[in-house]
Amino acid sequence: MLSKQTTTNWSVKRMESEWGDRWSHLKKILERSGPFTHSDFEPSPETLIFLQETFRILIVGAGGLGCELLKNLALLGVGNIDIIDMDIIDISNLNRQFLFRPKDVGKSKAEVAAEFINTRIPNCKVKPHFTKIQDFPDSFYQQFHVVVCGLDSIVARRWMNRMLISLLNYEDGILDQASVIPMVDGGTEGFKGNARVIFPGMSACIECTLDFYPPQINFPLCTIAHTPRLPEHCIEYVRLLLWPKQEPFGANVVIDGDDPQHIKWIYEKSLDRANEFNILGVTYRLTQGVVKRIIPAVASTNAVIAAACATEVLKITTSCCMPLNNYVNFTDTDGVYTYPFEAEKKEDCLACSLIPQTLTFSEDSKLRDIYDYLIESAAYQMKSPGITTVIDGKSKTLYMKSVKSIEVKTRDNLKKTLKELGLTNGQEIYVADQTTPTSITFKLNLTSHMEK
Ligand SMILES: [Zn+2]
Repeated sequence: MLSKQTTTNWSVKRMESEWGDRWSHLKKILERSGPFTHSDFEPSPETLIFLQETFRILIVGAGGLGCELLKNLALLGVGNIDIIDMDIIDISNLNRQFLFRPKDVGKSKAEVAAEFINTRIPNCKVKPHFTKIQDFPDSFYQQFHVVVCGLDSIVARRWMNRMLISLLNYEDGILDQASVIPMVDGGTEGFKGNARVIFPGMSACIECTLDFYPPQINFPLCTIAHTPRLPEHCIEYVRLLLWPKQEPFGANVVIDGDDPQHIKWIYEKSLDRANEFNILGVTYRLTQGVVKRIIPAVASTNAVIAAACATEVLKITTSCCMPLNNYVNFTDTDGVYTYPFEAEKKEDCLACSLIPQTLTFSEDSKLRDIYDYLIESAAYQMKSPGITTVIDGKSKTLYMKSVKSIEVKTRDNLKKTLKELGLTNGQEIYVADQTTPTSITFKLNLTSHMEK
């Protein structure tokens, strides 16, 4: 491994001797101008050296997309890559997470992926982080030129988005562009995927387009109970109706999707029901998939989306081509289809707009109404909002679920009206949630009973 201090000439020479003219494909793009190059682009051999030596990128996720992203970026000449993932390798990952081998099962994804690339690709230095994204302070994220996400969790994606927004600097309401760290985000679900480019504070962010992530769609209970047509309906029938009624493993035992005994019981009962309605297709695998809400990952979809994301990283970093503006959908269910479009910035976006957020409620509303609204409204989709305020100069926790002792102490507040809690019109409340690294300030717009 070469150290950072190595002189440019020597590193280029050594690389060429080890790997032949490894970067000739890149040089064709970076050392010549063309009809699609960005107006800022200046063809130069320096650009490749920048990619190899100075550029810093963080890959969030070392799973299906992460393995692809890491390989793609390393082979695009990126010399310094950090990768973060809190997960360990499962045997079921091996069909597509190609940096992992059977001997790696149980080890950290980030660490094994980094070691693989460090051994295989000369001059690429990958630094793994086997931890949660929430464990790092602002200063960690600030050191990167670009962040690229290959996540399967919407909560983590939202958190990352808001972290990058929190790093923005404004002077007199004008965004300091030097504080913008672009985020390239890829997502896949079976045969569908998308890639997007976000310039925090400038273009549509994850929260601007929160309605792109619809809540989990469940089958209607009446269909499950009375008119099943799909194998999934039979499995849901057993999961939702038969399990609580028959309690096959004792009272109040919750289904464990990783317990083979549980899955076997659900599978056999589902098969009985399927036979009764002449439905084909109930298998053990499908049963586990439905119970655990697994959408099978497709290696080719991951490969396409990661390739699109890596290409966008190269475009943003070198200006060799205009970046995607700013979202592309991809489907390979039936042929191959792509559709690029510009997602619009939401004027009152919870994350990236400077407009203060307000919540309008009647003073007779209960705190529970606000709590439920923050979770259920399409614009917020919070997970377990913790609500605090300041009354008479003192900080007061109104409700917090995440800490058991505080939950017990504040539980009764949910039943109280806003008026009883001492909240007044124009008062600020502060909301913390796992979707955001910083708490959000809402101004209360309280209407009196009379006005209503
Ligand atoms: Zn936004």
